[in-house]
Amino acid sequence: MQASVNRETFEQVMVPNYSPLPIIPVKGKGSRVWDQSGKEYVDFAGGIAVNALGHCHPQLIATLQQQAKNLWHLSNVWTNEPALRLAQQLCDKTFAERVYFANSGAEANEAAFKLARKFAYDHSGETKHEIISCLNSFHGRTLFTVSVGGQPKYKEGFEPAPKGIQHIEFNNCQALREAISDKTCAVVIEPIQGESGIIPATADFLQTARSLCDSHNALLIFDEIQTGVGRTGKLYAYQNYGVTPDILTTAKALGGGFPIGAMLCRKTVAQSFGIGSHGSTYGGNPLACAVASTVLDLIDTPELLNAVKQKHETFSQHLERLNKQYPIFHECRGQGLLIGCELKEKFHGKARQLLQMAQEEGVMVLIAGLNVIRLTPSLIIPDQDIEDGMSRLTRAVKRFQDENQ
Ligand SMILES: *Cc1c(COP(=O)(O)O)cnc(C)c1O
Repeated sequence: MQASVNRETFEQVMVPNYSPLPIIPVKGKGSRVWDQSGKEYVDFAGGIAVNALGHCHPQLIATLQQQAKNLWHLSNVWTNEPALRLAQQLCDKTFAERVYFANSGAEANEAAFKLARKFAYDHSGETKHEIISCLNSFHGRTLFTVSVGGQPKYKEGFEPAPKGIQHIEFNNCQALREAISDKTCAVVIEPIQGESGIIPATADFLQTARSLCDSHNALLIFDEIQTGVGRTGKLYAYQNYGVTPDILTTAKALGGGFPIGAMLCRKTVAQSFGIGSHGSTYGGNPLACAVASTVLDLIDTPELLNAVKQKHETFSQHLERLNKQYPIFHECRGQGLLIGCELKEKFHGKARQLLQMAQEEGVMVLIAGLNVIRLTPSLIIPDQDIEDGMSRLTRAVKRFQDENQ
């Protein structure tokens, strides 16, 4: 018999790096989730932009079960059909000519940053090693990725950190112009900053980054780990901007909930990851790749991507109505189903309180920083679930406003 576990167990057996909410979800279907007590929730969180096809999508279950009966793991001593098919799909659907598979976003970025350094080392020598990144950016939690990330709190206490990294203000073209030099090997940008509050890059910033990278012989890296795989209404957000990177990283929604990450790049760049230069035991394993292949098949259709844009409108209308009734938000922003609602100044620091109240009312939402409520639901969330979730969120917002008079 399985031992019974509850939220108190967490304190007894887990490293305290997370502070999970009081409930324990045990089952999900589509955009609904149930906890241990049987209480039901509408899921506007989508596993932080991961469960792009909701929970337990029948075709993902079928793919996973089918692959589980054939082959789970080989190591990269052999290649496998699902990995080759997935890489083929990613090359067909994007600018990319080569793909490297990892198991998470941070690992995909780690590969991207190492590749950028190696490419510059191969072609220009070791002085060309500087990476330019943006303040408040987030690129993962390995030591290299927290160092490239623009939030010092994630690095504090873990130093000495890798060197040769500069941070500039996001969307500040002039700052980028001043920072870039012949020592720069790469500029790294999230097309929409996710963790720091859902802040879209301006087209001007991305275009400027592209042309400065070109003139300084540096690589442009887009971290699309949160924005990718249909989240913004295009398969990748760069396709909204018409600015093409040299390297793109993708993870989160790529596996629809099954762990996988990938780094996409052009062929000439890929050459710098020669045999033995980098690797991963699980990267490109058949289970993850098979599932991701089905995820791409299901998401990259004009119908689904257009529906993402429509659902953005539906959310916007609901949020506008909510904010007229209970004006707590300064602004709601984002693209597709990556939506951030920033609290008015007098409620700053209270996003988590609202998240908690939303949960009590039966809707799961996220925060991005201390002041922003973030919604990253399934890309196929039914309109009825949006309706129900928004009326629960409205109740939470009313309580939130009452308590913070
Ligand atoms: C989530 C995220 C990461 C890190 O991905 P993990 O899978 O948690 O390692 C990196 N960059 C961005 C933009 C992200 O949103």
